[in-house]
Amino acid sequence: MALFSNLLGRMFSGKKPAPTQVVPLKDERTFVAQKHSCPACHTHLDEGELERNLFVCPQCSHHFRITPVERIKFLSDPGTFQEFSSEVQTTNPIGFPGYEAKLNEAKAATGLADAILNGFVQIDGRKAIFSIMTFKFMGGSMGSVAGEKLTRALLTGIEKRLPVILFTTSGGMRMQEGIFSLMQMAKTSAAIAQMELSQIPLFVVLTDPTYGGVTASFAMLGDVIIAEPGASIGFAGPRVIESTIRQKLPEGFQKSEFLLQKGFIDAIVSRAELKKTLGFLIDTHMARLKVR
Ligand SMILES: [Zn+2]
Repeated sequence: MALFSNLLGRMFSGKKPAPTQVVPLKDERTFVAQKHSCPACHTHLDEGELERNLFVCPQCSHHFRITPVERIKFLSDPGTFQEFSSEVQTTNPIGFPGYEAKLNEAKAATGLADAILNGFVQIDGRKAIFSIMTFKFMGGSMGSVAGEKLTRALLTGIEKRLPVILFTTSGGMRMQEGIFSLMQMAKTSAAIAQMELSQIPLFVVLTDPTYGGVTASFAMLGDVIIAEPGASIGFAGPRVIESTIRQKLPEGFQKSEFLLQKGFIDAIVSRAELKKTLGFLIDTHMARLKVR
């Protein structure tokens, strides 16, 4: 852990912690559904109806991408979310041209400091930690701040003996931070190894899309790995693979349903069932800890 704190001093500006708050995020769905037309079945959908249905198409069950704030609203008890690690701020460690401007754009678009939001929550009265990625912040790319925040969520879980629930969505690692971005794969994996030793469970919920170094590291290291229906999950995208191997990929390649069939993930859970499922997983895993 000394390594993490030494790195902290070099990588992040030491600002005072911001007050706990949830910033309303702008609509992430514009990425996939202009005017709320379902991208899968093309049904025109009313915003209110869609929200009441947890942003799942009532016609074809397509799961729209949602913001971290919506995930908190749908999956935790009202008023229980308490953000932490918001004081960690992104810098430009390798002096990449134009990075600050891109960061400012992403901050304005999402209301977030980087691609991950951490907080304490309750799920039907059970205490837990959420670490939620957002695709709208530079494609959910994983830089040193996202890696640090996820690591803090994992270590806080160990310290407070609380289960951690991680929601992934990402295009991969953040190229503007070079090797500092890639080292987050090892750093977060090391923190998960610590969790294993402490027996605190990590539940991962893969959401659309989850790719690159995120899939190649922490996203696949949960004690239980769940995916939302129809989510695209992989390392390289299908077009890259097809052009490399010069073969047509099978139908549904890299979709949750395909990955479940191949044993890559443990379960597919619809958004409507997810809160209940997470509650069940917390009860079964944490009860085992109490007995010991
Ligand atoms: Zn639909």
